Amino acid sequence: MKKFNILCDADDTIQELMPYWLGELNGKYNLNVKKEDIKSWDIMKAFPTLSEEEVFEPLYRDDFWDTTTPVEGSAYYLKKLVSDGHNLLIVTASNPETFDAKTRKLMEMFPFLKKEQIIRENNKQTVDGDILIDDGVHNLLGGRYKKFLFNQPNNSLFNEKEHDITRVFSWKEIYERISRMAA
Ligand SMILES: [Mg+2]
Repeated sequence: MKKFNILCDADDTIQELMPYWLGELNGKYNLNVKKEDIKSWDIMKAFPTLSEEEVFEPLYRDDFWDTTTPVEGSAYYLKKLVSDGHNLLIVTASNPETFDAKTRKLMEMFPFLKKEQIIRENNKQTVDGDILIDDGVHNLLGGRYKKFLFNQPNNSLFNEKEHDITRVFSWKEIYERISRMAA
């Protein structure tokens, strides 16, 4: 069986971010923006009445990250991939100010990860790996890795087939696809 170097995004790929982020903003500003309303990477389009500072404020609070939860199935199947002998690296394009709180929460949700397996990198194409799993289209364009686009409303309008990218809908599907590639 082949062993892969698997790169994996954090936010909205293994760590639910958007529902909690929208919950904060909807509560504070009495709005009703839903995850399905976020049709592009630019979240500002869904909040025309708010400033960039207001929209991004929650992400700079440590207590905000404490409220996040794993994406369904991510903990179970990531652990299986590690048990199968693959090397796993969580690659997150975080701000330095938020990285510590996010890393602490990731290690709590995925206790089989070592802190050396969580890195901060805005240009994921520079990281050497066989596979990248990510919900951000911009991270998948141009990289030399095999590309799995984790289905989210923010990427729903993107035509992945034109870019040799595979859209995936669950962590079970990701696990099965990687296992078939490894066999
Ligand atoms: Mg993401």
